[in-house]
Amino acid sequence: MARTAFLGLGVMGYPMAGHLARAGHQVTVYNRTADKADRWARDHDGRHQPTPRQAAEGADFVMACVGNDDDLRQVCLGPDGAFAGMLKGAVFVDHTTVSAQVTRELAEEAAKAGIGYVDAPVSGGQAGAENGQLSVMCGGARDDFDRAAPVIDAYAKICRLMGDVGAGQMTKMCNQIAIAGLVQGLSESLAFAQKAGLDVSQVVEVISQGAAGSWQMVNRHKTMDEGKFDHGFAVDWMRKDLGICLATGDQIGASLPVTALVDQFYKDVQKMGGGRWDTSALIARLG
Ligand code: NAP
Repeated sequence: MARTAFLGLGVMGYPMAGHLARAGHQVTVYNRTADKADRWARDHDGRHQPTPRQAAEGADFVMACVGNDDDLRQVCLGPDGAFAGMLKGAVFVDHTTVSAQVTRELAEEAAKAGIGYVDAPVSGGQAGAENGQLSVMCGGARDDFDRAAPVIDAYAKICRLMGDVGAGQMTKMCNQIAIAGLVQGLSESLAFAQKAGLDVSQVVEVISQGAAGSWQMVNRHKTMDEGKFDHGFAVDWMRKDLGICLATGDQIGASLPVTALVDQFYKDVQKMGGGRWDTSALIARLG
């Protein structure tokens, strides 16, 4: 069993750290808002510390799941950052969705301190984190990945090495690009069914078993029909992710016209006060 630290106990991190503890790993957590770390340590067999550095001291693996590029820099770098406390030979595993650029920057800093770095963004949402069924897409050195994968396994359905550092984040971008257009299409289909006076659940029962079926359709149609958007992956985070996809698309010469359009639709949802609604809230702007 490994000595681990987990930084960031949000919608995703809180249950992921819980799975590590339940798998028998030694877990020390850090959360910026200390109350949450305190609650986690009361609910689980583990400890909490007031800084990323203190949480990371003595750990073999340090996991993080925070917000964006700057948040990740804050928990990694500086005198209270995780890298300052980590042992030589330990591995930092980042589950945050961030740019491949910050990933490469931080991996270089980690290497200077003799620390391994695996970017390991996840897909599967709040339910995937709670059930320990996340898809984990990784980038990094084979040796670091091979050591980290059995620990990540505590909350993974599938965990794959996609290439060098940054390849996990590039794969996550493919995931977000695929979801963006799909959720807009699903929203238009369900709003159309509502306006046509059809029974949405009956429509989905039939069409989900044909060529139009998708995970989003099966798992989100009911709450989308009811106008409930509290599934955990916030619109604000989706805009952050689509911003990363669009900037990266420009750099590598990939055309993303639908992604760019759906990003603007999410901006409308933010203006409606839906920044913390989940991504299926695209249907709300169709009226
Ligand atoms: P969340 O509920 O908003 O939690 C964010 C966590 O990061 C909180 O613990 C927050 O601490 C911490 N944090 C943010 N900025 C920080 C900083 N500067 N320094 C230290 N801690 C900081 O977010 P989430 O839904 O768990 O998502 C986390 C990451 O996973 C994001 O990159 C998101 O895009 C990605 N993701 C989310 C989902 C999902 O379904 N939710 C799915 C896949 C990927 P406080 O408690 O103090 O605010």
